[in-house]
Amino acid sequence: MIETGVTMTAKETLKALLEPVAVRAKTAYARWLENDETGEQSKDLYCSNCAKSLAVEPWMVDGWDDDIESDTFPRCKKCGVLLCHSLSETGIFQELQHYIEYGFSCADDAWIAHNFLDGIGDYEDAIHGALVKQLVDKLHNGRVNKCFSREAFEIKKSEWNDD
Ligand SMILES: [Zn+2]
Repeated sequence: MIETGVTMTAKETLKALLEPVAVRAKTAYARWLENDETGEQSKDLYCSNCAKSLAVEPWMVDGWDDDIESDTFPRCKKCGVLLCHSLSETGIFQELQHYIEYGFSCADDAWIAHNFLDGIGDYEDAIHGALVKQLVDKLHNGRVNKCFSREAFEIKKSEWNDD
Protein backbone atom coordinates (compact mmCIF):
# COMPACT_ATOMS: atom_id res chain seq x y z
CA MET A 1 0.00 0.00 0.00
CA ILE A 2 2.74 2.45 0.94
CA GLU A 3 4.65 1.65 -2.22
CA THR A 4 1.61 2.38 -4.39
CA GLY A 5 1.26 5.73 -2.65
CA VAL A 6 4.88 6.58 -3.40
CA THR A 7 4.44 5.59 -7.04
CA MET A 8 1.33 7.71 -7.44
CA THR A 9 3.13 10.67 -5.94
CA ALA A 10 6.02 10.26 -8.36
CA LYS A 11 3.59 10.02 -11.27
CA GLU A 12 1.72 13.16 -10.22
CA THR A 13 5.02 14.97 -9.63
CA LEU A 14 6.27 14.07 -13.09
CA LYS A 15 2.99 15.11 -14.69
CA ALA A 16 3.17 18.49 -12.98
CA LEU A 17 6.80 18.98 -14.07
CA LEU A 18 5.98 18.12 -17.67
CA GLU A 19 2.74 20.03 -18.03
CA PRO A 20 4.02 23.57 -18.73
CA VAL A 21 6.39 22.23 -21.38
CA ALA A 22 4.02 19.67 -22.86
CA VAL A 23 1.42 22.32 -23.74
CA ARG A 24 3.96 23.90 -26.08
CA ALA A 25 4.23 20.82 -28.30
CA LYS A 26 2.55 20.94 -31.68
CA THR A 27 0.44 17.88 -32.44
CA ALA A 28 -2.07 16.76 -35.04
CA TYR A 29 -4.45 13.86 -35.53
CA ALA A 30 -3.23 11.07 -37.77
CA ARG A 31 -4.43 10.53 -41.32
CA TRP A 32 -3.46 8.05 -43.99
CA LEU A 33 -4.24 7.54 -47.64
CA GLU A 34 -6.62 4.92 -48.97
CA ASN A 35 -7.00 3.82 -52.56
CA ASP A 36 -10.67 4.29 -53.40
CA GLU A 37 -10.54 1.54 -56.04
CA THR A 38 -8.49 -1.18 -54.34
CA GLY A 39 -8.96 -0.34 -50.66
CA GLU A 40 -5.18 -0.36 -50.23
CA GLN A 41 -3.93 1.88 -47.40
CA SER A 42 -0.67 3.78 -47.17
CA LYS A 43 1.49 2.45 -44.36
CA ASP A 44 2.80 5.96 -43.70
CA LEU A 45 0.85 8.33 -41.49
CA TYR A 46 0.40 12.06 -42.08
CA CYS A 47 -1.18 15.12 -40.53
CA SER A 48 -4.39 16.25 -42.19
CA ASN A 49 -2.79 19.04 -44.25
CA CYS A 50 -0.02 16.84 -45.64
CA ALA A 51 -2.44 13.98 -46.37
CA LYS A 52 -4.66 16.39 -48.33
CA SER A 53 -1.67 17.65 -50.30
CA LEU A 54 -0.73 14.06 -51.23
CA ALA A 55 -4.17 12.65 -52.00
CA VAL A 56 -4.41 12.32 -55.78
CA GLU A 57 -7.25 10.18 -57.18
CA PRO A 58 -7.89 7.35 -56.68
CA TRP A 59 -6.13 7.96 -53.35
CA MET A 60 -8.14 9.76 -50.71
CA VAL A 61 -7.60 10.87 -47.12
CA ASP A 62 -8.78 8.49 -44.41
CA GLY A 63 -8.69 8.70 -40.61
CA TRP A 64 -10.52 10.57 -37.88
CA ASP A 65 -9.78 12.76 -34.86
CA ASP A 66 -8.64 10.08 -32.42
CA ASP A 67 -5.46 8.83 -30.74
CA ILE A 68 -4.02 6.01 -32.81
CA GLU A 69 -2.63 3.00 -30.97
CA SER A 70 1.11 2.64 -31.43
CA ASP A 71 4.26 1.01 -30.04
CA THR A 72 6.28 4.15 -30.80
CA PHE A 73 5.29 7.79 -31.12
CA PRO A 74 4.26 8.50 -34.72
CA ARG A 75 5.13 11.58 -36.75
CA CYS A 76 3.76 12.91 -40.02
CA LYS A 77 5.87 11.32 -42.76
CA LYS A 78 5.96 14.60 -44.68
CA CYS A 79 6.27 17.49 -42.17
CA GLY A 80 7.31 15.61 -39.01
CA VAL A 81 4.62 16.94 -36.68
CA LEU A 82 3.88 14.68 -33.71
CA LEU A 83 0.68 12.71 -34.25
CA CYS A 84 -1.80 12.11 -31.40
CA HIS A 85 -1.38 8.56 -30.18
CA SER A 86 -2.00 6.04 -27.47
CA LEU A 87 1.21 4.19 -26.55
CA SER A 88 1.31 0.45 -25.85
CA GLU A 89 2.66 -0.95 -22.59
CA THR A 90 5.98 -1.75 -24.32
CA GLY A 91 6.12 1.68 -25.93
CA ILE A 92 5.68 3.43 -22.57
CA PHE A 93 8.35 1.21 -21.02
CA GLN A 94 10.81 2.12 -23.78
CA GLU A 95 10.03 5.84 -23.58
CA LEU A 96 10.57 5.89 -19.82
CA GLN A 97 13.90 4.09 -20.19
CA HIS A 98 14.90 6.62 -22.85
CA TYR A 99 14.02 9.61 -20.60
CA ILE A 100 15.92 8.08 -17.68
CA GLU A 101 19.00 7.83 -19.86
CA TYR A 102 18.73 11.00 -21.96
CA GLY A 103 16.24 13.30 -20.23
CA PHE A 104 13.59 15.33 -22.04
CA SER A 105 15.07 17.15 -24.99
CA CYS A 106 12.06 18.93 -26.49
CA ALA A 107 8.43 19.83 -25.90
CA ASP A 108 7.38 16.79 -27.94
CA ASP A 109 9.11 14.50 -25.39
CA ALA A 110 7.24 16.20 -22.57
CA TRP A 111 3.95 15.89 -24.44
CA ILE A 112 4.48 12.17 -25.13
CA ALA A 113 5.18 11.42 -21.46
CA HIS A 114 2.43 13.71 -20.16
CA ASN A 115 -0.01 12.03 -22.53
CA PHE A 116 0.55 8.51 -21.18
CA LEU A 117 0.76 9.70 -17.56
CA ASP A 118 -2.59 11.38 -18.17
CA GLY A 119 -4.21 8.02 -18.97
CA ILE A 120 -3.94 7.89 -22.78
CA GLY A 121 -2.37 4.52 -23.59
CA ASP A 122 -1.51 1.42 -21.60
CA TYR A 123 0.26 2.94 -18.59
CA GLU A 124 0.18 0.59 -15.57
CA ASP A 125 1.60 1.56 -12.19
CA ALA A 126 2.57 -2.07 -11.55
CA ILE A 127 4.67 -2.16 -14.73
CA HIS A 128 5.89 1.42 -15.19
CA GLY A 129 5.68 2.90 -11.68
CA ALA A 130 9.23 2.00 -10.67
CA LEU A 131 10.64 3.66 -13.81
CA VAL A 132 8.58 6.80 -13.15
CA LYS A 133 9.95 6.92 -9.60
CA GLN A 134 13.50 6.47 -10.92
CA LEU A 135 12.95 9.27 -13.44
CA VAL A 136 11.58 11.67 -10.83
CA ASP A 137 14.47 10.88 -8.48
CA LYS A 138 16.87 11.63 -11.30
CA LEU A 139 15.16 14.93 -12.10
CA HIS A 140 15.24 15.91 -8.43
CA ASN A 141 18.90 14.99 -8.13
CA GLY A 142 19.67 17.27 -11.05
CA ARG A 143 21.22 14.56 -13.16
CA VAL A 144 18.99 15.27 -16.12
CA ASN A 145 17.96 18.80 -15.18
CA LYS A 146 20.09 20.21 -17.95
CA CYS A 147 17.97 18.43 -20.53
CA PHE A 148 14.89 19.58 -18.69
CA SER A 149 15.74 23.28 -18.63
CA ARG A 150 13.48 25.92 -20.09
CA GLU A 151 16.27 27.00 -22.45
CA ALA A 152 16.60 23.54 -23.91
CA PHE A 153 12.92 23.46 -24.75
CA GLU A 154 12.93 26.96 -26.18
CA ILE A 155 15.79 26.22 -28.53
CA LYS A 156 14.03 23.13 -29.82
CA LYS A 157 10.75 24.97 -30.15
CA SER A 158 12.27 27.78 -32.18
CA GLU A 159 13.98 25.29 -34.45
CA TRP A 160 10.64 23.65 -34.92
CA ASN A 161 8.91 26.96 -35.77
CA ASP A 162 11.50 27.69 -38.46
CA ASP A 163 10.48 24.50 -40.28
ZN1 LIG B 1 2.30 16.88 -41.98
